[in-house]
Amino acid sequence: MSKKGGFYESVEHYFDRAAPFTGLPQGLLDQIKACNSVYRMNFPVKLRGEVKVIEAYRVQHSQHRSPTKGGIRYSNHVNQEEVMALAALMSYKCAMVDVPFGGAKGGIKINPWEYNEEELEKITRRYTSELIKRNMIGPSVDVPAPDYGTGSREMAWIYDTYRAFRGEEIDAAGCVTGKPVNQNGVRGREEATGRGVYYGIREACNFPEDMKKIGLSTGTKGKTFVLQGLGNVGSFSGRIGQDEGGMILVGVGEVEGAVYKAEGIDIHELLKYRKATGSILNFPGATSYPKEQREVALEFECDVLIPAALESVITIDNAKRIKAKIIAEAANGPIAADAEEVLLAASKLIIPDVYLNAGGVTVSYFEWLKNLSHMRFGRMDKRFNQARLMDMVNLVERMTGRSVNDSEQAMIARGAEEIDLVRSGLEETMITAYHQIREVKMQREGIEDLRTAAFVNAVLKISNDYMSLGIWP
Ligand code: GLU
Repeated sequence: MSKKGGFYESVEHYFDRAAPFTGLPQGLLDQIKACNSVYRMNFPVKLRGEVKVIEAYRVQHSQHRSPTKGGIRYSNHVNQEEVMALAALMSYKCAMVDVPFGGAKGGIKINPWEYNEEELEKITRRYTSELIKRNMIGPSVDVPAPDYGTGSREMAWIYDTYRAFRGEEIDAAGCVTGKPVNQNGVRGREEATGRGVYYGIREACNFPEDMKKIGLSTGTKGKTFVLQGLGNVGSFSGRIGQDEGGMILVGVGEVEGAVYKAEGIDIHELLKYRKATGSILNFPGATSYPKEQREVALEFECDVLIPAALESVITIDNAKRIKAKIIAEAANGPIAADAEEVLLAASKLIIPDVYLNAGGVTVSYFEWLKNLSHMRFGRMDKRFNQARLMDMVNLVERMTGRSVNDSEQAMIARGAEEIDLVRSGLEETMITAYHQIREVKMQREGIEDLRTAAFVNAVLKISNDYMSLGIWP
């Protein structure tokens, strides 16, 4: 069994640890675990008068369902093993939340903050055309999305490049998700991963017996939390945790350093402050830690630690100093496998990435469905529902002889907009999946943690798809 501190080894280790609980034949397990195709490319781009050779990847981990799906990351740390690990996680993640895709991931080895918009556009378009040439992108083949260092802007470039080559395809808009709303995107995609993270934490905190075991009260209200990373996922998890869950942000770690304030930091104020000053440091009332000490954020006193940036930040070295009782993996792979052992031995509740950050791909699925249907969610039924609810209000008024005022009427008889439906679908997905994992953990003797339960659940679902090939018993 592989078991090291590296990211890919960690994902393999989690798979191997779960495998015996599935009862599946070894050949089938081997097939599910393997990365089906790994495409590494080098392409030239002329930047600032010089030709630069760019290294990039697209990995399709599993085609048990089509298309394959997963983000594209822009980072200096991109390498083949990292993209393979991330692609494998996508397969398990999609299965976990019943999103009918195989797993994939892409990466371009650049520091996106070193390039201007024009240069990034050039790189993105060139990368996309490489994928088109290899038939590695398309609404029924492989559908990229944002990841670390990319966002809706990059997705719009990908879509536009795809359309330039394959404009005649009626479903071309489904070739990539995470697009801007006015370019065939879906409302709620941008916040989706962070919102899903909050729903997942809320679900975990709703079980009194689980909270009692780790010495916490039930519910999210009043729970203190620390965010490591204030990017898309971190900032939305934090805002929604604070605004909807009544959680108290006490610490933040970012590239420039870390801040801590036991009485609580208003996340909206902190984001405004960072936008204005370019840094979280010296935020009024908080203790600041310089860049070299930014990792202390992981060790701050709090109930919930949310690593929301990159993989392998919790290692065998700092694991024993982590004080949070709940570690909510908003990032992919933030805990190295050897560090996880230390945390589990210290009875920490780890809410695993394959479940917790699946909100992004869940809403990507909704976006893809919207693209295939060529219609905004809610268009057909909003007015109908509104009218039926209005009938109900009128009926109640007639029966009780009391009248409902205008604002009550507007609240009760409201037809669902696209954003309401997307959020509702996401919430349902995150609740159902949490209950599934917890159920597996409770029912299978020997499973002590949620990650193993999530892997067992995901691998069993994937195996069902492979069974249709007819070569396994
Ligand atoms: N990059 C995100 C993830 O790691 C989203 C993937 C997607 O929406 O396809 O889950």
